[in-house]
Amino acid sequence: MTGYRSGVPENWFVDPVNLGVPGVRRRIDTDEDTALAWQADALCAQTDPEAFFPEKGGSTRDAKRICTTCDVRGECLEYALQNDERFGIWGGLSERERRKLKRRAS
Ligand code: SF4
Repeated sequence: MTGYRSGVPENWFVDPVNLGVPGVRRRIDTDEDTALAWQADALCAQTDPEAFFPEKGGSTRDAKRICTTCDVRGECLEYALQNDERFGIWGGLSERERRKLKRRAS
């Protein structure tokens, strides 16, 4: 096949994972990836991220409403508690609500 040249351009294959196509998951092969695998189903990633990190005193209502229908709410909250996430809405709870929950659990 010397001299054979394919007419297919090198970049013909577009990776749907990197494009963020809904329903296409990243392959999981390390512990870190596993810990964050739930993020592939995070509803907030498909909405306005600013709703989840409002300015001080801003409304968290919209973000919390989205969280109530999110499939990975439990994983998200657990991650935020374990990593001591200080800002934003995680798993449907504000920072203050997460602190309260932690105090109650300890
Ligand atoms: S529970 Fe809320 S903050 Fe967590 S991933 Fe789902 S939508 Fe995002």
